[in-house]
Amino acid sequence: MNLVVGAGITGSVLAELIARVAQEEVLLIDQREHLGGNLYDEEVEGIYIHRYGPHIFHTKNLQVWQYIQRFSQFYPYRHKVLAQTKVGLVPLPFNLKSLELSFLPSEVKLFKEKLARYFVPEERINILELLQVQELRPLAEYIYEEIFKNYTQKQWGRSLEALDISVAKRVPFIYGYTDRYFDDFYEGIPLGGYTQMISKMIDHPKIKLKLKTSFAQMRSLAKNFTRVFYTGGIDEFFGYQFGELEYRSVKFEFRELGQKIYQPVAVVNYPNHPNYTRITEYKYFLPTPSSKTIISYEFPQAYYKGAQRAYPVPSILQQELYERYLQESKKLDNVFFCGRLGMYRYMNMDEAILQATQTFEQVFKRLQN
Ligand code: UDP
Repeated sequence: MNLVVGAGITGSVLAELIARVAQEEVLLIDQREHLGGNLYDEEVEGIYIHRYGPHIFHTKNLQVWQYIQRFSQFYPYRHKVLAQTKVGLVPLPFNLKSLELSFLPSEVKLFKEKLARYFVPEERINILELLQVQELRPLAEYIYEEIFKNYTQKQWGRSLEALDISVAKRVPFIYGYTDRYFDDFYEGIPLGGYTQMISKMIDHPKIKLKLKTSFAQMRSLAKNFTRVFYTGGIDEFFGYQFGELEYRSVKFEFRELGQKIYQPVAVVNYPNHPNYTRITEYKYFLPTPSSKTIISYEFPQAYYKGAQRAYPVPSILQQELYERYLQESKKLDNVFFCGRLGMYRYMNMDEAILQATQTFEQVFKRLQN
């Protein structure tokens, strides 16, 4: 019997592969009262709301895309985001349209001439790189101030420069008019929601799900399992013996409004608002006849025990601490650490699926199909 700790996307994929492909029994536990982890959604007034913030499935990987289709059909949603700046709403990632909305025509002309000297059309340039181009410095500084500086401070409690470059790369400057948030070929939202998709994934006679069950409650029994796949905080597993890893958490405030539409796209970012980072309007994600709408405000905060861990912090210091836990984990034969918290890695859903699949293939020495 295998024990999988955590019924988020990583734990659920692992359980599914172990049961279906390896044909072994799995006990899947989660300390919350629902499955799906931070993917959890529920229907309110005919609208699927994401309790732990907006999740949009997107990937470049055909294999991952095909895998996830086993468990749900997908609505072909294309994610669009706007940012509230001093000139009003502009497309995000900041693109040539955002540029035209933010500057005078004469300035736009000059910036475009300079951009043409350094970049090729449609190129995606991260803001820290753009800041290095002396001639484009006024443009880069404008974007940095209007989009990144305060948002990142609120979200991470530190500057963009203090984070791994992969964070800045997530939302580049686009030297073109593309207004899609993601640069991935496959994108969509599961019709019927994420919770239903995960429940279908783990609906297998060899999988037993136990909610409201923490690993702490099971710890003394862990040695009875052939293997343990742990998707919780790796520092917590080891009793914080090297100190606590830092995580960021988010508090959500939901509002139900008696109007059809609140904002022009699903997500509007407010980089310079003093408290919240973004407002999500959920009815954009899936078709709904609802005449009401539901929005959520996101208030990032430092993680404290008892809160939900939403993001590991991609910084050198935290990575060094994580490495110590990683070394410790290698001493254990039959415990495998996976997922955003177990691997302390800021992964999207598709990367989490890929990682879980790779862990499964390495441990069971067989391919998923
Ligand atoms: N970011 C920002 N301003 C924005 C959007 C993003 O500064 O308007 C930065 C910020 O540091 C954020 C990161 O880019 O944490 C990644 O943004 P993304 O939308 O990918 O974050 P997620 O949806 O994963 O929270």
